[in-house]
Amino acid sequence: MPVTSAVSAARTILTRLHDVMASRSHAQAKLNTVVEVIGEGLDSEVCSIYLLREGMLELFATKGLAQEAVHVTRMAIGEGLVGTIAGNIETLNLAEATAHPDFSYRPETGEEKFHSFAGVPIVRRERAVGVLCVQHADPRRYEEVEIEALQTVAMVLSELISNAELVDEEEAALLGPQQTGPVRMAGLALVKGLAAGNAVYHQPRITIEHVMAEDRDAELQRVYLAFDKMREQIDRMASQAEFGVGGEHEEVLETYKMFAYDEGWSRRIIEAIDSGLTAEAAIERVQQRTRMRMRQIDDPLLADRMHDLEDLSNRLLRIVSGQMGTAATMGLKQDTILIARNLGPAELLEYDKRRLKGVILEEGSLTAHVVIVARAMGIPVLGRVRGLRGMVRDGDPLLLDADQGHAVVRPNPPMIEAFDARFAKSKERAAAYAALRDVEPFTRDGTRITVLMNAGLRDDMPNLALAGADGVGLFRTEFQFLVSATLPARERQTRLYRDVLDAAGDKPVVFRTVDIGGDKVLPYLRHNNGEHEENPAMGWRALRVALEREGLLKVQARSLLEAAAGRTLNVMFPMVSEPWEFDAAREVFESQRRYLKGQKKLLPEQVRYGAMLEVPALAETLDILAPRLSFLSIGTNDLTQFLFAADRSNPKLAERYDWLSVSIMRFLKRVQQAVVGHNVDVTVCGEMGGRRLEALALLGIGIRRLSITPAGVGPIKELVRKVDLDEITAAMNQWLASPPPSLREALIQWAVERGIEAD
Ligand code: PEP
Ligand code: MG
Repeated sequence: MPVTSAVSAARTILTRLHDVMASRSHAQAKLNTVVEVIGEGLDSEVCSIYLLREGMLELFATKGLAQEAVHVTRMAIGEGLVGTIAGNIETLNLAEATAHPDFSYRPETGEEKFHSFAGVPIVRRERAVGVLCVQHADPRRYEEVEIEALQTVAMVLSELISNAELVDEEEAALLGPQQTGPVRMAGLALVKGLAAGNAVYHQPRITIEHVMAEDRDAELQRVYLAFDKMREQIDRMASQAEFGVGGEHEEVLETYKMFAYDEGWSRRIIEAIDSGLTAEAAIERVQQRTRMRMRQIDDPLLADRMHDLEDLSNRLLRIVSGQMGTAATMGLKQDTILIARNLGPAELLEYDKRRLKGVILEEGSLTAHVVIVARAMGIPVLGRVRGLRGMVRDGDPLLLDADQGHAVVRPNPPMIEAFDARFAKSKERAAAYAALRDVEPFTRDGTRITVLMNAGLRDDMPNLALAGADGVGLFRTEFQFLVSATLPARERQTRLYRDVLDAAGDKPVVFRTVDIGGDKVLPYLRHNNGEHEENPAMGWRALRVALEREGLLKVQARSLLEAAAGRTLNVMFPMVSEPWEFDAAREVFESQRRYLKGQKKLLPEQVRYGAMLEVPALAETLDILAPRLSFLSIGTNDLTQFLFAADRSNPKLAERYDWLSVSIMRFLKRVQQAVVGHNVDVTVCGEMGGRRLEALALLGIGIRRLSITPAGVGPIKELVRKVDLDEITAAMNQWLASPPPSLREALIQWAVERGIEAD
């Protein structure tokens, strides 16, 4: 059948189906008419509809097969050709049906006369709820255009079936797990932990409610407008690089642009509208066809591109249907494992913490801010899962074991049992750490190590007591900016800082002034005057922004000074590269202090200023800066990305460099020694300090203060109590002087020999 006649055949069928659906007849009568219409329209001797009932695919209507078989012939999911189509949600097109290995002969149907067979699944909410098939006496494959017409009709049928409540959608949803078996997905453990829940896509797939168009021109208009809007969005992303959290976005955007402007894609959608579909249904139809073709090509690279097209198609659907929100805006309804290609920290913070149990990303890296936020929220994250979105469907049950770096989708009962046992064990371990809450972390030789926690939100503060940390060593004030729709006003900032200090009681809190820019983008603050930054991590961020937008820092200084009235204020500046930047930032605070004094306001009893060492250059001027500092905090997340020239949010580099490398350890040791004798507290506040083996190495180079994720406090305290500082110092000295092939391996062995659990 030529393309134009297939389109017109589909249109004729749709026009007739429209009348059938609008008629007042009973659902069964409608289905009987539908098979006649389709059989005639596609010039097929047989047309049958199977629908899911009580877990089986039941023949509901047929033209051409024996009528006695209706409501008698039943197939299990996965059984025969019909069951295979539903089980795999795939299309079959066979010249000789009996030659297919899954063919199962049903004598009551009288189908032996027919040779060719084509069937498509009838899909509702990503589940097969039935199968539509046609058969022919001649042994010939159906043309692709005919298959497309069948798929179009199947979409219409899905709406008819749903409206008539012919299948139980709940039941179809329950059948989901059996439709394809369990799949184990390996990834990189970005935040350790275990979680169980149901898959929710961060960018939800759209459920199409109306398939048949009432007004073709209006549908065309809608899709033209949506294409314009989508192309505008993609172009804007490319120019602002706001897409996701860094990573491979250049490459991704190029592909996106290619697809967004692809004439073939838009033409096929327009053709589908021409055949009588709504804009939404047309986009989905074309996507189904692409999916089907891609399935036949076994090429991982192409599969990746397929996901890009899925993303784009989904974006177009969201635009056209006006359903633009993420799953966060729609609210989570059950225990959820969030599925996304990548996320920004602000996007993650929008989720309801009570229901969000875990996150699985296709990208992600250990020190990306979204991962730090997840760590702070105590949510396990598995990253770098290849082909994730092809394996998981919305609503699928998932077991996430980020401790072991994998997840299982649609688990079977033995898998659930094994997971539950591990979960119970990990809860036991957590309870053992909790028992250390009030135990002070002294090393075996009696040195008190200070174990502080990192925080960023008001909600993090109860963790201080729960984890038994010595205080907050890093309060990331920019988190408040990230979760706000607008720049937080002074009063709001003051209120937060005061609440945090109140919650901390006698324990110290170190507030870091805003560190925005890099992967922490504020939609309401135009970065770099709207100019695109090639390297945002090394760009206009942190203190650089604060010193240039002095108003921002002034407001924050006033808020912090007022909030800490009558107490000690510890404030530190991020990304200090040269001593003058520290002086300039301190002067902003001091001038606010003088102003408040002039106003006879109650001031903090003491203001202690510190700098973060994140830019390697600062290490060379520590002799100049140290006398002016009360404390120095080493931000190893940024420091290592600059030392190794390796973007911390680039997933390709996520495993490339080891924190336990000789370069990092030698560098940190030099920094630590540079401030000896200056009465400056040195803390490591990057993520590495929360990992036991890394913490062990840090203790061995003289670090005595760690500020880490709350979940790490218990395990690190336990480690500290088992370590003899002289021993680890001697070992580290020796390894750094003449390095072993792998410092990590050497440390592991050292720990194992002493019965220290450090991995
Ligand atoms: C760091 O860079 O190590 C750090 C603690 O700051 P952040 O992760 O917020 O950049
Ligand atoms: Mg940093």
